Amino acid sequence: MNCPFCRHEESRVIDSRPTDEGSSIRRRRECTNCGSRFSTAETAVLSIIKRSGATEPFSREKVINGVRKACQNRPVDDDDLALLAQRVEEALRATGQAEIEAQEVGMAILSPLRELDEVAYLRYASVYRNFSSLEDFEGEIALLRALPFEKNSEVQLSNKDSQVVSPQLLAPKTP
Ligand SMILES: [Zn+2]
Repeated sequence: MNCPFCRHEESRVIDSRPTDEGSSIRRRRECTNCGSRFSTAETAVLSIIKRSGATEPFSREKVINGVRKACQNRPVDDDDLALLAQRVEEALRATGQAEIEAQEVGMAILSPLRELDEVAYLRYASVYRNFSSLEDFEGEIALLRALPFEKNSEVQLSNKDSQVVSPQLLAPKTP
């Protein structure tokens, strides 16, 4: 890839190490033109198997588009949605599978969406799980009340390496 500082096409790898328990590789690079250092992250392509049997690469944008409607008029902004999509991707990658059924993507959305906004969650779940009666809503709401979300019980998704994978480019650190 091009140097993010001068757009030069060549760089040399000065360090390479696995991150996220081996699910990605981070490479420290030095531009052969301007000498700036930057990092790249390499991950396996995550494929989604559609109902038709065709596969397509996982897309955070599709996750966001899938929940945007459920979040309408809710206190959810674009940053929240971007983070949600990131968490969905991390959850899917954590399964260690290279190919994932589209259905599982929907499942992976439920938990972070619930944490984000319970009304949006209910809207999404009602469509995704095909709620057909008031009882379905009542059952889900009863579950929500019975099992209050405990943020600390969730997998910790802190500002560690995985967060910066998507731009494929990390801010340069002083050497
Ligand atoms: Zn450069």
